[in-house]
Amino acid sequence: MVGSRRSAVKTALQPMRRGVETRSVPPMTLTRGARRRRAALAAVAVAVAVSASACLTAPGGLVNGFLPASDLETITPTCQMWIPAAPSLINLLAAAHSQGVELDPEQCYRTYAQQVAERNFWCSLGLCQFAAVPGTSLHGWGKAVDFADQNGTLTFTSPGYAWLKANAANYCFVHPAWAEPTGSAPEPWHWEWVCG
Ligand SMILES: [Zn+2]
Repeated sequence: MVGSRRSAVKTALQPMRRGVETRSVPPMTLTRGARRRRAALAAVAVAVAVSASACLTAPGGLVNGFLPASDLETITPTCQMWIPAAPSLINLLAAAHSQGVELDPEQCYRTYAQQVAERNFWCSLGLCQFAAVPGTSLHGWGKAVDFADQNGTLTFTSPGYAWLKANAANYCFVHPAWAEPTGSAPEPWHWEWVCG
């Protein structure tokens, strides 16, 4: 049963768009992606109950989700990274672009308040495992990236996902086991910087 449940989660999540900015938007004004996401999530309301929280160490005594602006580098209007991780992401994006894959880091550093909102959103759907406990996410260290590509938020069949699987390790990025198709929270979009 676990296998079929995981399969159902994976199938339902594949067309799902990412982003929580529409969380408090009234239903009539939800984006197409948000509507599709809600429909997909409603179909998997019996999802696995496993935490997706990350195992962390504090860099330089900093506090997860409270990094000062001086420790963050803006990569795109929607993505800030911890400064030591920024060159890896910049090089990764350039390499993908040179090979025709337009990776877009939709979300990177996440403040504590944003993580609280993210957690509340997913838990309200009975899917707490899709957002780490506030204070534990690698997003809170500016070391995680949620990617889209030219087709939208990554799915397990996206060209961006295939490119990352083949190349991301060269740029210090990995796809954690829990985010794999058979993991506790299948998230094809979520990648983590592991070189510092
Ligand atoms: Zn993520």
